[in-house]
Amino acid sequence: NGDQPESNVDVLIIGAGPAGIMAAAWMARMGLKARIIDKRSTKVFCGQADGLNARSLEMLDSLGFGDRAWKEANHMIEICLWNPDENGIIRRSDRVPDTPVGLSRLQQSTLHQGRIERFFLDNIKKYSNDTIKVERGVLPESLEIDQTKVEDQGAYPITVKLRFLTEEEAAPKQLGGSKVSDGLFRSNLFQEADEDALIKQTYERAGAGETIHAKYVIGCDGARSWTRTTLGFELEGEATDMIWGVMDVIPFTDFPDIRCRCAIHSATHGSLMSIPRENNLVRLYIQLVEVKPDASGRADRSKITPELIFNAAKRILDPYKIDYEVCDWWTAYQIGQRVGTNFDAHQRVFLAGDAVHTHSPKAGQGMNISMQDCYNLGWKLGLVCRGIAKPSILKTYQSERRRIARDLIEFDNRFARLFSGRPAKDILDAEGVSMDEFKEAFVQGNMFACGLSVNYGPSNLVLKPGDAGEQGDGSAVAPPAVTMSEADFDRKQALATGISVGMRFNSFQVLNQSDGRPWQFQKRLPADGRFRVVLFAGNIHNAQQKKRVEAFCAKLDAPSSFLHRVVGNDGGDDLHSVVEILTIHSAKRWDTELLRDFAEVLRPFRRATGWSYDKVYVDDVSYHEGFGDAYKNYGVDKERGCVVIVRPDQYVAWVGDLEDFDEVQAYFEGCLVLKEYTNGVHSYVAADVPEG
Ligand code: FAD
Repeated sequence: NGDQPESNVDVLIIGAGPAGIMAAAWMARMGLKARIIDKRSTKVFCGQADGLNARSLEMLDSLGFGDRAWKEANHMIEICLWNPDENGIIRRSDRVPDTPVGLSRLQQSTLHQGRIERFFLDNIKKYSNDTIKVERGVLPESLEIDQTKVEDQGAYPITVKLRFLTEEEAAPKQLGGSKVSDGLFRSNLFQEADEDALIKQTYERAGAGETIHAKYVIGCDGARSWTRTTLGFELEGEATDMIWGVMDVIPFTDFPDIRCRCAIHSATHGSLMSIPRENNLVRLYIQLVEVKPDASGRADRSKITPELIFNAAKRILDPYKIDYEVCDWWTAYQIGQRVGTNFDAHQRVFLAGDAVHTHSPKAGQGMNISMQDCYNLGWKLGLVCRGIAKPSILKTYQSERRRIARDLIEFDNRFARLFSGRPAKDILDAEGVSMDEFKEAFVQGNMFACGLSVNYGPSNLVLKPGDAGEQGDGSAVAPPAVTMSEADFDRKQALATGISVGMRFNSFQVLNQSDGRPWQFQKRLPADGRFRVVLFAGNIHNAQQKKRVEAFCAKLDAPSSFLHRVVGNDGGDDLHSVVEILTIHSAKRWDTELLRDFAEVLRPFRRATGWSYDKVYVDDVSYHEGFGDAYKNYGVDKERGCVVIVRPDQYVAWVGDLEDFDEVQAYFEGCLVLKEYTNGVHSYVAADVPEG
């Protein structure tokens, strides 16, 4: 490599959009040596994606900064549907809640991508002790995978050569001569001195190169992904001929629902979606019916101006008037609906976000699904790199996320057709779109759009019946460690009807047993890379139930239990370092004592920190914040309880009875590296433990 500097990293992330910074956030949380590079010189856009769905807000909360987003964002509470009446005049035809009621403690919100990226960068700085920083103006020039080393967990099989760009090369191009920022340049919110210094450092190195040897690479480099192309993978699907304009304006209007999310179908001028945002901004998505792609299939975006887009909006909203002084951002784009054929190469190089799925932005899914991809991948990579989990869990990234990407395209297709279509004049108008059908699809689609319909299939991370399937490269996904019949699965699932295996663990209020403080239970499932076993201990003052709980705890605390054999708690000091045990009981809090009524394995003692007062909760009435009624909401029997395994990303891996400890053990044997247990002595299974 001549005199180019060389370095080793656990994970190299290419691209610092929403997907890349989510990956970096996990790397910081899990203490990995990671680098994140981006060819662009600046972080911030105004514009681009701005919708945070309920699930994304839950994820940001689990990372520790949901409160910042929640505080600053505009909360979207209501959706209004507007359609033409019999005289062709638009009228409000329906109102529906924006987030389906009862699904999440958080609701769809809007805040621009630049702010969300800011929160991420602060979080990454904090958890990585300032060791992971986005390196801007850096371009990867080659990527090679040494296939002879991909099975060797200690090796660095990927070599990536980087080049540091000049200021000119790294500056993004502005759309066709507009005076208003199209969002690719610095926004008015850009004010971080630390970033300026970082960027300056890059230019000082302009022209130089570096060779990086990585254990893993994540390509988060957007729809035109260099990583994807370099791997020779493709996106399947097509560009549609639908062209949309987007504007972020502060509108002056007599339209009454401007502060609600609206889907407006005009009789003859096309459709418009309005999205209320922070600081009185409103985003308008407008279908540009008069702009068509040329023979090559591409639209000439240089012909599209803010005036053209806004005039289309005026026509759709007529007879209401709309005008603006401030336009924060605008753009125009053609919808491509595509999904990647492969999401990884050898489970060493992964693709995430727009690099593997592109679609229309109307339903606000782009940033959400991209972040959610890396929320799924980050902890898996973290645990494998640290030698805690088996490398086979990495196969579930593609098996879990590619299906979501395909669902997304299908949803987008249906939604785009219904949204772009002309409203039917009456029931005999077969070419027009029935507004009843639109409403039904809209309400159903909303469940998907809020991110809470995700249901992962069977694998060694989700114990369900069924075939775990294959990877893009034809290799099998690791199957569940327990073979379960449908009937057996249904019987177990019936123990917790509100906790679905494969879906994310919902949140209800419980009280801390020791101090009575109310907690949304999801707050106790932070993104720190730990699995959790949630013991619904039921009525622990019933003698028979107490025996069941004691029997479960005895197995949990036996030296042969996974809990004592995971990698990472060798000193025995922190028993819950890889798998945390949380308890929710249903007896009266006043009748119960932490130390008297719960085995030590449920509330371990550490020399440095004393007893764990934050592990045992109760489903009881609080002083100030009412009653969460968690057992009822989770659908768990108050007397007998049940046991639930939750993954580090809050997805439910298994539900079973207190007598089913063997399945809990089998689950962790299936996905974690456990020390062998023979005659009371723990030893590593050599083949499973990475070197270095
Ligand atoms: P990106 O956000 O695209 O990030 C990719 C990053 O990789 C970029 O920072 C880029 O500079 C960097 N990169 C690219 N190539 C390289 C390379 N070779 N080397 C190093 N770095 C590289 N979504 C919505 O939900 N609503 C919207 O209104 C909306 N509007 C949009 C408007 C525009 C103009 C665009 C482009 C996208 C819009 N989206 C919208 C989509 C949304 O922004 C994306 O879905 C989301 O940002 C995807 O995140 P990502 O991290 O996968 O990719």
